[in-house]
Amino acid sequence: MQGQMQAQPLLISTLLTHAERHHGSQEVVSRRVEGDIHRTTYAELASRSRQLAKALAALGVQTGTRVGTIAWNGYRHLELYYAVSGSGAVLHTLNPRLHADQVVWIADHAQDHVLCFDKTFLPLVEAVASRLATVKHFVLMADREHMPTQTAIPNLLCYEDLVSSQNDAYTWPQFDESSASSLCYTSGTTGHPKGVLYSHRSTVLHTFASALPDALNLSARDVVLPVVPMFHVNAWGLPYSACMVGAKLVLPGPGLDGASLYELFEAEGVTVSAGVPTVWQGLLGHVQSKGLRFSTMTRTIIGGSACPPAMLDTFEDTYGVQVIHAWGMTELSPIGTVGILKGHQQALPKADQRAIQSKQGRGVYGIDMKIVDAEGAELPWDGKVSGELMVRGHWVVNQYLKGDTSPLVDGWFPTGDVATIDADGFMQITDRAKDVIKSGGEWIGSIDLENIAMAHPAVAMAACIAAKHAKWDERPLLVVMKKPGAEVSKEELLAFYDGKIAKWWTPDDVVFVDSMPLGATGKMLKHRLRDLYQDHLQAQPACAPGTPVSA
Ligand code: AMP
Repeated sequence: MQGQMQAQPLLISTLLTHAERHHGSQEVVSRRVEGDIHRTTYAELASRSRQLAKALAALGVQTGTRVGTIAWNGYRHLELYYAVSGSGAVLHTLNPRLHADQVVWIADHAQDHVLCFDKTFLPLVEAVASRLATVKHFVLMADREHMPTQTAIPNLLCYEDLVSSQNDAYTWPQFDESSASSLCYTSGTTGHPKGVLYSHRSTVLHTFASALPDALNLSARDVVLPVVPMFHVNAWGLPYSACMVGAKLVLPGPGLDGASLYELFEAEGVTVSAGVPTVWQGLLGHVQSKGLRFSTMTRTIIGGSACPPAMLDTFEDTYGVQVIHAWGMTELSPIGTVGILKGHQQALPKADQRAIQSKQGRGVYGIDMKIVDAEGAELPWDGKVSGELMVRGHWVVNQYLKGDTSPLVDGWFPTGDVATIDADGFMQITDRAKDVIKSGGEWIGSIDLENIAMAHPAVAMAACIAAKHAKWDERPLLVVMKKPGAEVSKEELLAFYDGKIAKWWTPDDVVFVDSMPLGATGKMLKHRLRDLYQDHLQAQPACAPGTPVSA
C-alpha cells in the first residue's frame, strides 16, 4: 500500500522560493570587493536569481552545464548558487587559493562552460583564460562602472549587465531530485583533485539536518555570518540553511581579518558564525588586544581542523560564546558529526564537559559511521580503540566525477581519518591515514612537494610531513636525505619551489637526515618521520608568509 501524501522533488530552488515567500524582507548583507556594505533582501535576491537564470540560459547554459565561480562570500555569489542549481545547471565553486595550473586542471576536468569571478581574481583569470579549454564565457561579478578598461580576457562580460538584460518572469523548472546541483573538488587525498558532485536531494536533506538544534542550530531569529568560504564545500551549507530557516545572512567578502569580522559582527548583530580555528585565532587576537566583547554573538561553529581546547575555553569562559565543534568533509557536503552535549552530560563537571566538546562530535541523523581495523572488522564504541572512520548516508559521495572505480568499501566511504567513538556516540579524531597536510584549513599535497624536492639534483630521498604549528594548525616540513657527496642548503631547496607551487605551499623548514626509515617493501615510513619531527616547528617562530585562512 502506498502512502497518500504529496510528493515534491527536493530541489534547491524550493529553499529560495520559501525564503522569498515566508521571509521576503529578511536581509542579506555583504561586504563587497568594491569596499562598501551592500544590503538586499531574500525577495530581491530571488528576483535577481531568476533574471540571472534567464541570462545564463541565453549564454547556452542548459541542464547539467557546469558554471564555474571564483568568488568571495557575497550576494552575487549567492545569486549564482540559486540561479545555476535552480535552473538545473551545475554550480562549480573553484578555490582561488590553488596554483594556477591546478585551477586550469580542475576547470578543464569539470568542463566549465561559463566562469564567473570577483574582481580580486581578475589577475588569476587573466593568467589562465587562454588555457581553459571549455570555458566559452567569462563574467566579471561587477557593475559596468567597475569593469576594467583593458583586460587580456576577450569578450569579458559584465555580471550586472547580464542580470539587467532580463526580467524576472521565470519559473524554476521541476526535475528529478537526484540531478546534479553543484560540484566541489577536494585535494584532501593524494593524486589529482577529485570532483564531488552533489545532488539536489543530498543538498536539501543536508540542509534539513544541518539546521537542527543538535547540529548548527539555526533559526529565523539568527543572524548568520559564514566566514567559511562559499568556495569551500558550499560554506558548510549555510547559504542553503539560512534560506531554509529565514535567518539574516551576513557575507564578509574579502574581509576575513579579525578587525573586519568583528566590525561586521557588531554592526549587523551576528548571533552565529562558522569557520576554521585559524580564523578564530585572528578574531580572538583582535578582540583580546583591544579589550572588546561580543555583544550579540551566542555561538560559533568551529570545524575543518580540530578545535584547540584553549580556544574552546576562551570562547566559552571569557566571552560566553558557545563553541559548536563539527567534523565534515567535501565528500559529505560537508557535515558529519557535531559536538553538542547530550542531556545527561550537562550535569558533568565542567572539565569533563569540555573534554567531550573537544571531540569531533556525534553523527547527525542521515549519517551513519563506524570505525574499522586494518582488516575492515568493526571496532567497539568504547572511546579507546581507534580505527579508520567509515561513513555512509544521504549526503555521502558514491562516486567521484569521472572516477572509474568506486571509493566505497562494502557501501561505506573510508574517510582517511583515524578515530575513536565512545559509548555516547562521540567521535574523536586521533590520527590521519591520508598523506596530506592541512594548513589554515587548506590542503597542501605532500606528494607534490616531495616530487619537486626529488627533482633537485642533490636530493636522494625526500618526505614531506605535517608538522604542528601554533597558528596554521599544520605546516609542511621537508625531510631530505642528500645524495652521497652532494651539497644543498635549506635556502636552495626552498627556492627550488619558486613558481612550481602556490607560494604558501612552500615548506616552512628542511630537516636533513642521514637515512630514511624504510618499511619491508622499501616504502618510506612517513608516520615514523611524523613521530620524530611533528613538533619541530613548535620551537620555530610563528611565520608562514602568504598562508591563506580558509575553511
Ligand atoms: P575537507 O574535505 O577539505 O573539508 O577536509 C576534510 C578533512 O578535514 C577531514 O577528513 C579531516 O581530516 C579534517 N577535519 C575536518 N573537520 C575536522 C575537525 N573538526 N577536527 C579535525 N579534523 C577535521
